[in-house]
Amino acid sequence: MTSGNTERFVDLRSDTVTRPTALMWEAMQAASLGDDTLEGDPTVHALEHLAAVMTGKEEAMFVVSGTMGNLIASLCHATRGGEAVVDAQSHMAKSEAGGMSRLAHLYPVLIPSVRGEMDLDQLAGALRPDFSRYGQPTAMVGVESTHNHSGGYVPSLGYLADVHALASRARVPVHMDGARVFNAAAALGVGVGQITSHCDSLTFCLSKGLSAPMGAMLAGSHAMIEQARTFRRMTGGGLRQAGIMAAAGKVALETMVTRLSDDNQRAQRLWAGLAQIDPQLVDTVPSKSNIVRLRVAEQRECNPSAWEAALAECGILARASGTSMLRLVTHRHIGDDDIDDAIAAIASIRDRLVANASPFGAV
Ligand SMILES: *Cc1c(COP(=O)(O)O)cnc(C)c1O
Repeated sequence: MTSGNTERFVDLRSDTVTRPTALMWEAMQAASLGDDTLEGDPTVHALEHLAAVMTGKEEAMFVVSGTMGNLIASLCHATRGGEAVVDAQSHMAKSEAGGMSRLAHLYPVLIPSVRGEMDLDQLAGALRPDFSRYGQPTAMVGVESTHNHSGGYVPSLGYLADVHALASRARVPVHMDGARVFNAAAALGVGVGQITSHCDSLTFCLSKGLSAPMGAMLAGSHAMIEQARTFRRMTGGGLRQAGIMAAAGKVALETMVTRLSDDNQRAQRLWAGLAQIDPQLVDTVPSKSNIVRLRVAEQRECNPSAWEAALAECGILARASGTSMLRLVTHRHIGDDDIDDAIAAIASIRDRLVANASPFGAV
């Protein structure tokens, strides 16, 4: 998209495209400010306090992005070096430019997962409390909720409790990449604290479905966050009048959490509509959160980028993901009509592309 003007499209590329709400703009304008690297910024402090309370952690810290939050968590947990035991399909392993290993010097041990849940036997086998003749200790275990690369699946509370118990037994902290953890809470019908009680630290994004223009929070113990403040400085995340952005983040936490179930439900509506056209177009089980994956053929005219272009012609934006899928993400600017438009567009493109690509592309 070169023009940058995507507002007339049904933009299902990501929930990060959400614009600030009117209340956010007002709060940004009215925010009390300080220099967050000098004496501190009162609005940032208020946001950090609120995030800590909501996630049930001792302290929280405002960071520029979810990626920065995960990186700083890795740096904090990596004081002795060692291994990061993470799911092979995790965002930290696949989509953060290798920061965990390149900058935090953690050796990634990748565990296979199904719908966002790692194989617990393999996880248990990978945990090492101490140095051995052949290995270094596990510095951290990573979990992710909702799970991005599986298509938004929501790991169960039982799974998270099992991972936490295994890790705690090996004296290893669990870091949760909870970029969309409030969508997960809405999907499970629980308070977010019930999810975050199963980790020692977590990151979540303000800039996705919660609609803030930027920012994420890293939450954990007092001791960890104190250290994290140094690492935030080190990684270039020490901000000045950050209260302008924190004000929007605070409004996000105060006003945008409960509406995420609408996004989750619209994704179910999308999944159901697509499944009705052809069950093979979607995952066999819907994710319960705000992501739907569209499975398309890999060959010739049927590949994901052909689909991306054909959808854009119908006014629908989606993103290719891998060699055979598109990712559709619902958010505040997507209504029921948009979902129905997307379903209709996909139905007609499927008829056209499959016909064109015959015989190779026929399902
Ligand atoms: C979006 C996302 C991130 C990164 O957040 P940014 O703010 O884009 O850096 C991390 N983990 C998961 C699972 C995500 O979906």
